[in-house]
Amino acid sequence: MDYISVFDRILQKKLERDPAEARRFLAFGYRAYRRLGRIFPDRRLPESKRFAADVVMRLMIKVLTKPEETCMASLFVPGEPLAAAGILPYSVEAFSSYLAGTHIEKLFLDRTSEDGVPETMCSFHRIFDGAAASGLMPKPPFMVYTNLACDGNMMTFPYLKELYKVPAFYIDVPWDRNEDAVAYVADQLHRMVEFVSDSAHRKITEEALQAAVSREAQAAADYREHLRYQRERCLPGTMTSDMYGVFLSRILAGTRDTASYTAGLLQDISREPATDALRVAWIHLMPFMQPSLRKLFSFSDRIYLTANDIVYDAFRPFRSKDPYEAMAARMVYSAFNGKTEARIDCAEQMVRDTNAEGVILFAHWGCRTTIGASGLIRDALEARGIPTLILEADGCNPANSPDGQLMTRVEAFMEMLEEKRRQGGKMR
Ligand code: SF4
Repeated sequence: MDYISVFDRILQKKLERDPAEARRFLAFGYRAYRRLGRIFPDRRLPESKRFAADVVMRLMIKVLTKPEETCMASLFVPGEPLAAAGILPYSVEAFSSYLAGTHIEKLFLDRTSEDGVPETMCSFHRIFDGAAASGLMPKPPFMVYTNLACDGNMMTFPYLKELYKVPAFYIDVPWDRNEDAVAYVADQLHRMVEFVSDSAHRKITEEALQAAVSREAQAAADYREHLRYQRERCLPGTMTSDMYGVFLSRILAGTRDTASYTAGLLQDISREPATDALRVAWIHLMPFMQPSLRKLFSFSDRIYLTANDIVYDAFRPFRSKDPYEAMAARMVYSAFNGKTEARIDCAEQMVRDTNAEGVILFAHWGCRTTIGASGLIRDALEARGIPTLILEADGCNPANSPDGQLMTRVEAFMEMLEEKRRQGGKMR
């Protein structure tokens, strides 16, 4: 029996009848799945990656069962003020990934189509908006969002603010990467802290904020130390387990969980033996729903992903002891802000740091920022001697992606890298 299809059918019926009941049912499913994962853990995964899966699953359950302890936030919002307040944020990417992982994304994609949302919009946003419009997602107490990295947020968050009639705080990150911009963003972060304190009815003390930022600085240091090992060792994993790293490095920044995760990564990789597998760095989100790619990158001894630019950029070294300035600088000088050149430099540095032999850039359907920059990034990296493959597909809606074609292109890329290695063609 296909238990997932049965679960989906029941959920759909409940959703039509009573969205609150559907929410409880989904939470029940997630709880059962979490319990199963604890009783029968996937022992092929290192402990740090199993921990990450559990943390993100716990977050999703909380979103559905105790929304008053959570908030909606966009992925690039600094998590530290929320961590200091004990509020768990969830993003468009996190929630939609879970719905897609539960194979119920089509329900919400259909819903947004009926509501007239263009199908060219990023599917992470369409699924999120559809889940909200259908009543599956509970009303959050408040929202925090930013224009950094994702232009889809500039439609989704105002729409949801109106739908739920909840307070929202917007962080404007200027395109220019300079000290004036850092001061401007730091000022907004002061106001964000007041906003979160008021909205969550929890006072955020300077000590709690400083502690969250210090934890994140340590998490970044551990992550970067673990990258040094990535040059010749590989932590077994799957695309899904790497995707959890995206959430921990961003919206969960400043939490004890993120600090434990990176400390665990460092410990786990230090115990791994060296490997001969191909080393490839990844740009943008991972298409963890794509059957062929998921299979290819899971526990492979032929290829492994050394780093992902969303995580790599989040864990840059902290430059300031002032918590507001540290968070503001991370946003302003993010590789995802300003000209594409910054993203190219970040990708090159990620390749050098991890000794990667090539780069795969995932141009997610509907993500205008990444699609628009993908050709420029590939050409610049190739000019710097780094073979780069662009994959165009839909990371959250596999129905939109030519699975066989993607696999053929990755296979050809891997063969090219293997041939290059045979010929001693080092790129460094
Ligand atoms: S894929 Fe692009 S448009 Fe979609 S949520 Fe991520 S950054 Fe935004």
